[in-house]
Amino acid sequence: MHIYWASVYKLPQSTIAEIDKILKRFLWGHSDNVKGKAKVAWKYVCTPEDQGSLGLKSLQEWNEVLLIKQLWKLIEKKNSLWFNWVNLVKLKDKVKNHVYESDDGVVKSVTNSGKKVPYKTSQVWEDMRSVHQLVHWHQVIWFPQANPKHAFILWLIKLDRLTTQDKLAKWYPNLTFKCELCGNCEDSVKHLFFECNFSRMVWTELKKNLLFKGLPGDIQGIINTLARYPFRNQIWDVINRITVAAVAYHVWQERNNRIFKGKRRNANEVLMIVEDGIRMKLASLMVKNSLQVKRAAEIWGMQVEMGRLKLGIGASI
Ligand SMILES: [Zn+2]
Repeated sequence: MHIYWASVYKLPQSTIAEIDKILKRFLWGHSDNVKGKAKVAWKYVCTPEDQGSLGLKSLQEWNEVLLIKQLWKLIEKKNSLWFNWVNLVKLKDKVKNHVYESDDGVVKSVTNSGKKVPYKTSQVWEDMRSVHQLVHWHQVIWFPQANPKHAFILWLIKLDRLTTQDKLAKWYPNLTFKCELCGNCEDSVKHLFFECNFSRMVWTELKKNLLFKGLPGDIQGIINTLARYPFRNQIWDVINRITVAAVAYHVWQERNNRIFKGKRRNANEVLMIVEDGIRMKLASLMVKNSLQVKRAAEIWGMQVEMGRLKLGIGASI
């Protein structure tokens, strides 16, 4: 609904702020009872995935792009009051930068590189939106088969934005923190993924089910190593990535369950949950009857049947 209004009017700042507030509360799980700080700045959240973020659209930028589209539609009626008002008062610089009329009277848009091309909303959007550096790791986290909940936690880990005890210790210097999983030292992204005895055991066992030999033992190293290989939508590209995200998610969840709910599972139970989740995910995919798929089926205790991986005898679910 707001997209309709955004294409017709320049939305008031207060409306944009209110809609952004609703989106932020949803993303960070805040409510009237649960307050907290955003883990990642909204401006960065609204940048594309290949620049290391979630690819949400900034409503303010999108509103301006849609209005420029309207302006383009009206631009031939140069004496239109609405056109003059929006052009002169509200979007003056942006219109000048992105829309122009060629000698033959055809309205075109100007790309950031100065190229004059037929007007396209998507082009103007690309040119106007905030630009950050491209990152090489986005396809390790975001790919078609990714579990969004797992990917979101892995994204926060990559950016080191989880609220771990090393960060809390800076805010509360008089308190002593101990990792809930091993009890040895305060937790941190580095410790939890996977220096901690508990999580290292889970990751070491899972690694045996990956064909990828030589993956490092730390999460940043693992992400950077996988990022060197393009995502080709093949079975092992998917398995490597969903395994890393699943183990990261479940270790974080176990840590939080222990702290906030007083519930504890041992490393073996967490390992089984991760493995079962991966098998469930694999069972939902259409696959080819290739050697790589057969190998995956063998390792994960599944069978290839009619383009699907089915749970075989010996699987724990
Ligand atoms: Zn620990």
